[in-house]
Amino acid sequence: CWARVRTRLRQEVGDVEYRNWLRQMSLAGVEGESVLIHLPTRFLRDWVRDHYGDRLRLLCQAEMPGVRLVELRVQAASRAEKAAIEQEVAEASPLAESLAPAAATPAMAEPVRNDWLVPLDPRFTFDSFVVGKPNEFAHACARRVAEKPAQAGFNPLFLYGGVGLGKTHLMHAIAWSLRERDPNLSVAYMSAEKFMYRFIAALRSHNTMEFKTQLRSVHVLMVDDLQFLIGKDNTQEEFFHTFNALIDAGKQIIISADKAPNDLSGIEDRLRTRLSGGIVADLHATTYELRLSILQSKATISGVEVPPRVQELLARKIASNVRDLEGALNRVVAHAKLFGRPVTLESVPEVLSDILRAHDKRLSIDDIQRKVAEHYNIRLTEMASARRSRAVARPRQVAMYLAKQLTSRSLPEIGRRFGNRDHTTVLHAVNKITELMAEDPAFAEDVTLLRKMLEM
Ligand code: ADP
Ligand code: MG
Repeated sequence: CWARVRTRLRQEVGDVEYRNWLRQMSLAGVEGESVLIHLPTRFLRDWVRDHYGDRLRLLCQAEMPGVRLVELRVQAASRAEKAAIEQEVAEASPLAESLAPAAATPAMAEPVRNDWLVPLDPRFTFDSFVVGKPNEFAHACARRVAEKPAQAGFNPLFLYGGVGLGKTHLMHAIAWSLRERDPNLSVAYMSAEKFMYRFIAALRSHNTMEFKTQLRSVHVLMVDDLQFLIGKDNTQEEFFHTFNALIDAGKQIIISADKAPNDLSGIEDRLRTRLSGGIVADLHATTYELRLSILQSKATISGVEVPPRVQELLARKIASNVRDLEGALNRVVAHAKLFGRPVTLESVPEVLSDILRAHDKRLSIDDIQRKVAEHYNIRLTEMASARRSRAVARPRQVAMYLAKQLTSRSLPEIGRRFGNRDHTTVLHAVNKITELMAEDPAFAEDVTLLRKMLEM
């Protein structure tokens, strides 16, 4: 039945691709519900897993009774891996030099084979994309292109921004929208990495004509994460020709990268110029408001009730990017579903302790002073004032104590932030509060609560 899996895979992906990526798979055995497959290098293992993993699993499930999972393992040492990659580069270079530039664009071509394309993620649509200040321009451009591809001024569309801010989501959304409107339109989406491996595979099998023909027959070409082509001169060259051929033929091109064209060092000037020749739109870092709207939207989709306070906590704490935010929410939701417990402000810090710790901004003395002043209902300025009445002196001491416990500031540094007090004053405060906490459980509980709120 393994032979049948291989045959079906070969039929699905075609000979060239099979030869390049899948031929070297060997069946190592079946352990329980898992089928173990060996590949000689990590490179191949990762490639097969990322590009054929799902297919492989489905075929194994269909052909091999009792199998539910596929496990890919590297069998050979990593020296072999290096050799394989070196060999690949060596094989790519001399041939690439001899490639004729775009001159011979073949006449009409057969439609792009499906296995060329990365499948589109069904979740990445315009409907599920939450628009806010940081992404409204990029979103508007994407909508515009989706409504009318290849219009003047919007070709190419170049989207850029840091990881996890929605570039891939927007590209897929455009593709879904275009396909929905016109199923005959051929829309090709691929990562720059995939573009390169296709190209190398074509070079190896002396099939570059087919590669060019297929690429140039699409109506819309999307290449994601273009920064991958930095330093890959031959692939960049090929991309440049494809790019020109398509633009000249009135096709739409959509590119994403982590930086603006001008900041992509290691990209040839002429390509850079062409990349900025249409519209360049950036996805800015998220704001608190956008993160909150995204959480609201995703929490609703999840079907699990996530209280507003929890959403606020996540939006405040996980500010890096949408992907991380989504990851945190997914875990909270999965936890609630698995254990059938509601999501609460108390449970979340535990469920997400590792994630929250990783995102923990260093607490500042300002934060502590603000929170303590708020808690005791005194003015923030009292933290640095000279007043000694108990009503302000005690909270000030609590703040000093917490600053010592929760930050890495030294006593003199802390003293300076509290109205230029001496380090002995801070030390006295720390000792005093420690003492009071030991004597008075209600006071201890109060300070502990403050500490928890600050640490959250
Ligand atoms: P990038 O390609 O820029 O690295 P992605 O497009 O892969 O980022 O986005 C990462 C995750 O965050 C995806 O799951 C995506 O759906 C989600 N995401 C990003 N921005 C938004 C948004 N504005 N609204 C809804 N989901 C978003
Ligand atoms: Mg992406």
